[in-house]
Amino acid sequence: MLAALLQSTEGLTVLLYEKRREYTRTRMVQLAPYLVADSVESYRADAIDGDSVAAIFDPAELDEGLAFRQSIPSDLRGLLESWTRGFCPLNTIERSLSDLIDARGANGVERTAAVMTAEDAMAILEPGDILIDSTGSRSLLRDHLVPGAVDGPEGANTLNVRLEYALVVTFLYGQPYDCNEYCKYYKNLESPRYKFIPMVSRTHYDGSVSHVTGIVNISADEYEAMPTRFDGQWLRDNFPGVAESMDRFIGKIKEETQGEILGELEIVRIPLDLYRARNATSRRWLTPGKNGHPFAGTPVFLAGDSAIGSPYFQSISLGFECAMYLAGLVAQRELPVVEMLDRYELYSYKQWLRVYMRSKTIKHNKDLFESLDDPLALLEKLHIY
Ligand SMILES: Cc1cc2nc3c(=O)[nH]c(=O)nc-3n(C[C@H](O)[C@H](O)[C@H](O)COP(=O)(O)OP(=O)(O)OC[C@H]3O[C@@H](n4cnc5c(N)ncnc54)[C@H](O)[C@@H]3O)c2cc1C
Repeated sequence: MLAALLQSTEGLTVLLYEKRREYTRTRMVQLAPYLVADSVESYRADAIDGDSVAAIFDPAELDEGLAFRQSIPSDLRGLLESWTRGFCPLNTIERSLSDLIDARGANGVERTAAVMTAEDAMAILEPGDILIDSTGSRSLLRDHLVPGAVDGPEGANTLNVRLEYALVVTFLYGQPYDCNEYCKYYKNLESPRYKFIPMVSRTHYDGSVSHVTGIVNISADEYEAMPTRFDGQWLRDNFPGVAESMDRFIGKIKEETQGEILGELEIVRIPLDLYRARNATSRRWLTPGKNGHPFAGTPVFLAGDSAIGSPYFQSISLGFECAMYLAGLVAQRELPVVEMLDRYELYSYKQWLRVYMRSKTIKHNKDLFESLDDPLALLEKLHIY
């Protein structure tokens, strides 16, 4: 996304290093509609964090973000609009961005298929370069941004909040299907321990296939005892209690809408982590006395999962949001480096606050939901003040 945004910035050449030759991840993802918002009202139109947006961001910042969206070239804007309409395969996003970069006339992007190391990245730096690390949650450079962190304790530049362990269950269903909070409640009534909480949206392909993604909360011990990914039968054989809640939910969907599951259930077990790089730029190397390090003379930025990660299907939108802001900063060639780094740190911190509050609220709501039929357990979770 950043390469596509920067490609059209005058005076820049983008060198893109990517270790994968092909995009093969099959997962379906959802993007937030705020990515293509055309007014402050539509940017804030979210049941959970509309108010937080107004509290965290200054009106001028929101206006600046909207103005940047309006300036995105129409080819890229068209893609963003199509992805935010419903569920979309992650590899469609990856491939169409890649194709778009290749298809644009005077290209401006040079690609190299290579596994970069931190040392490689430092070695190729030249005066005037900007280095952006978008290597995902196991960021290549996150720890290199802080003096002493590489040889220090693991994750020295990372703040991590583990919200829960979960199974993410996905399947295709051969009927249109939607599920609001009442539906989630009634379909889980007979499953007191494990609740299957779906996030449902119709795929945007033919309007008749629903792509269902559900989350089931599991314990740390259950998480440890499971492989990374498996199918429905493995779950039934090994964790019948968890499988029962999932199957009961699916049974009720079928009863209601007379449809069938298309293909297999796909299940992954993941920790739902909310994290951020305490420093998302190389600002700490600019402190007097740290000279001699390659990052003392080159602005470095973390983008995407490299900088911030969040559960509940929000991370790509967050990454795109920060990418748009960063592309806007990079385009201001006269901006002093220190200001550029400070502004990016502040912006990504604000986005972090937003996603932190949103994720904690979702988690809290999920916890309350799980105790709805037990008033005393519910009261214990309320902490009114
Ligand atoms: C089950 C599941 C479901 C999800 N669903 C959603 C969803 O619905 N909506 C949502 O917003 N998010 C979702 N996410 C999160 C989303 O997939 C990630 O936030 C997103 O892929 C992060 O994008 P990224 O570009 O920052 O990092 P990545 O997608 O991890 O890409 C990093 C890239 O860097 C390359 N790379 C890494 N190291 C090197 C190296 N040393 N040298 C060269 N190249 C390197 C990799 O090959 C890769 O292409 C989901 C995640 C999971 C696990």
